Amino acid sequence: MDFTLSPEIEALRLRVRAFVEQHVLPLESDPENFAEHENIPLERLKPLQAKAKAAGLWAPQTPIQYGGMGLPMVAWAMMYEEANRSLFGPLAMNCCAPDDGNMNLLSKVGTPAQKDKWLRPIVDGTVRSAFVMTEPAPGGGSDPSMIRTRAERKGDRWSITGRKWFITGAGVASHFILLARTSDDARRGLTAFLYHRDQPGWRIVRRIPIMGPEEHGGHCELEFDGLEISDDNVLMQVGDGLKATQIRLGPARLTHCMRWLGLAKRCMEIAQAYVAEREGFGIRLADRESVQIKLGTVAHQIQIGRLLTMHAAWMLDQGDRARKEVSMAKVHVADTLHNAADVAIQLNGARGYSKDTVLEWIYRYARQARLVDGASEVHQMVLARFMRDEGRDFWHWGAGA
Ligand SMILES: Cc1cc2nc3c(=O)[nH]c(=O)nc-3n(C[C@H](O)[C@H](O)[C@H](O)COP(=O)(O)OP(=O)(O)OC[C@H]3O[C@@H](n4cnc5c(N)ncnc54)[C@H](O)[C@@H]3O)c2cc1C
Repeated sequence: MDFTLSPEIEALRLRVRAFVEQHVLPLESDPENFAEHENIPLERLKPLQAKAKAAGLWAPQTPIQYGGMGLPMVAWAMMYEEANRSLFGPLAMNCCAPDDGNMNLLSKVGTPAQKDKWLRPIVDGTVRSAFVMTEPAPGGGSDPSMIRTRAERKGDRWSITGRKWFITGAGVASHFILLARTSDDARRGLTAFLYHRDQPGWRIVRRIPIMGPEEHGGHCELEFDGLEISDDNVLMQVGDGLKATQIRLGPARLTHCMRWLGLAKRCMEIAQAYVAEREGFGIRLADRESVQIKLGTVAHQIQIGRLLTMHAAWMLDQGDRARKEVSMAKVHVADTLHNAADVAIQLNGARGYSKDTVLEWIYRYARQARLVDGASEVHQMVLARFMRDEGRDFWHWGAGA
């Protein structure tokens, strides 16, 4: 097995690293950059994005013909991890959720006309997007077969009625990908639709207050009351909604892992810097074995996460859906991020609990990792099902020809 990176990917990684060091990290020391729901105000983000674009570090997930970098997923893994050394890195390079997953889905399954209309502006950075799936109880959450939002045929159009919530970015998004029920068929009952924020027949009921820092546009509750969608804005075919979701969510879960690993490494960086200087009871904290055990434990958890993530990325690059590999990475890296922030706060003492470092921001943000894009328990259920079906072959390595 060869674990080395190609010279091109390694060169890219170093360019991202340098860009973050020079242009992104310094922004974290200005409190004004946490003004909008603890996120960088959009007018301050724009010049940073212009720099990233000029540096050729822009939309790594999208084909070159639509304005992206057209990279394989293995290269995303390196780039996203380096980008998210800073809280604002993925935003700077147009590789943050939910746009990242939406661009990837539209690139993969959109028609040429849909790509021109819906994808290109997201890649350009002139509009933001949202993915509209989850519903409040008794609708579809962990179990998409419970989705109740309906799309009914009215003349030559679809008419949407229902309610969704926790839709990230809905407050600023213009392009929406919506999952709605077009029949009661168990496998083919859902369809994915595209709509624009200016269309009538829907509204944002509220921006849901959350415990952590927010993505731009927040996490919103939406109501649909006769939104009309034409056939050319059906994504894939009628009945392909579940398929579209799977195509989007596999890579989207993995890009979360890539970014979370960057944040987990940042936590260790801040922890290491503190314990290297701080003394107590006659020695430096860094020289205490109990402190080393804490740091060493997170270090190996991060590396396990990187291996799981890179393996799943490689499989997706080979055309495999990597369902169980993505689930393993998602469960593990979500826990790792949470633990990395927790350990770093502990080792920084009272300073860790303050807003003098980004640790408390990361800690509150990290709690969502075990919920978004499938709660950890759902991924564990999926893994148990694979293990039941595959037996000892669950752990096979793909053998070459
Ligand atoms: C910050 C944030 C951003 C989000 N962004 C979006 C978005 O942009 N678009 C979107 O559509 N959705 C979004 N979501 C919703 C997210 O995808 C759902 O919260 C998630 O899929 C879980 O669904 P639910 O909240 O309905 O939980 P429920 O389905 O009600 O489950 C509740 C809990 O029950 C447990 N549970 C559920 N199923 C099982 C099982 N099979 N076995 C064992 N335990 C189980 C888990 O602990 C789970 O957390 C977001 C959520 C958050 C918190």
